[in-house]
Amino acid sequence: MDKIRPTKKAMNLGTETAFAVLARAETLAAEGKSIINLGIGQPDFKTPQHIVTKAQQALADGAHGYTPASGIPALREAVVADLAKRHAVNVDPSLVLITPGAKPIMFFAIMLMGEPGAEILYPNPGFPIYESMIRYTGAKAIPIELKEESGFSFDPVKLLEQVNENTRLIILNSPANPTGGVTPKKDFDTLINGLKQYPNAAILSDEIYSRILYDERKHFSLLNYEEIRDRLIVIDGWSKTYAMTGWRLGYGIWPPALYEYAERLAVNSYSCPNAAAQYAGIAALEGPQKEVFEMVRAFDERRNVITKALNSMPGISCIKPAGAFYAFPNIKETGYSSQNLQERLLEEKGVAVVAGTAFGKLGEGYLRISYANSLENIQRAMERIQDLLEEN
Ligand code: PMP
Repeated sequence: MDKIRPTKKAMNLGTETAFAVLARAETLAAEGKSIINLGIGQPDFKTPQHIVTKAQQALADGAHGYTPASGIPALREAVVADLAKRHAVNVDPSLVLITPGAKPIMFFAIMLMGEPGAEILYPNPGFPIYESMIRYTGAKAIPIELKEESGFSFDPVKLLEQVNENTRLIILNSPANPTGGVTPKKDFDTLINGLKQYPNAAILSDEIYSRILYDERKHFSLLNYEEIRDRLIVIDGWSKTYAMTGWRLGYGIWPPALYEYAERLAVNSYSCPNAAAQYAGIAALEGPQKEVFEMVRAFDERRNVITKALNSMPGISCIKPAGAFYAFPNIKETGYSSQNLQERLLEEKGVAVVAGTAFGKLGEGYLRISYANSLENIQRAMERIQDLLEEN
């Protein structure tokens, strides 16, 4: 028997099931099974060549050392210029923290605001790391219910009823993982207006999917509300927009009261982001955006195919996602639980998807299906799902 054990806090850590599904899918594939992976959330495209070239060049030119913990100044400037161009907002480069992937921003934000006695609101179903980290800090995790009938966006009036003087952080995510939901501007308006009464509540706006929107929708960044800039943290990055998940590059915009602490957490944990990746990040923001548009156009086509196919299956209905690259079909009429259907699809049909419950309790009765895969694979996967449902 092991004599050592981690802290009680550590035992509260959750995980991201999508990675476990990916590992299982890879094991089955290594055994020779035919696997179609619609589980993990990453673009199936290659990073555009001019970005790769810039990183190669940076390495050849000697970008081998540590960089400032907050990122190289040229990249922080490029982020600010990109935000000005996309959202017409003015951000001070000293408030930009470049991180290895976008995830450390949520990790730091929750670490800095969560403690026993604090309440943190988070979307449910939502990205699983929010709830996991809240529980780790000992704060109370309060779910913001996202309902299918509201396009998987929050009800701002209900959300405001959940806020009180113990609320330290409110986490929002639009466009959303796992649902593809997008919050209308009028709902943000109502929320931000109501939050005037609660100046102690910080807001974490996860905008990592800000460039992946459909039907002419335009992203609305919370950076546009000047009145909350002193308590707003925004997450964005390169992973999804530029097909750069493995490069590990992301960023956060912080309020002055928190920046220094976030930077200290960076120094305490990883010192600085990868140097060559940061040069690549500049090329991504400043170079041609043609590939981004092409990728979104391809996702859009797949979105139409996948929702049409799902809606034709017995017991399944699926609203059209407004953003990101996930469908979140309702499977309640199939008679399967989310977990059971996830397992049977992978083990019997070789289709990797993620149970809605991996994104919180309120995900029961749903599956997350990533359409960041080729049309051909999506079509084959849809046939296999249909087969399983018709067998019963
Ligand atoms: N936020 C959301 C909502 C995500 O879906 C993801 C990645 N799946 C991240 C943040 C983290 O992105 P990164 O890979 O850049 O750390």
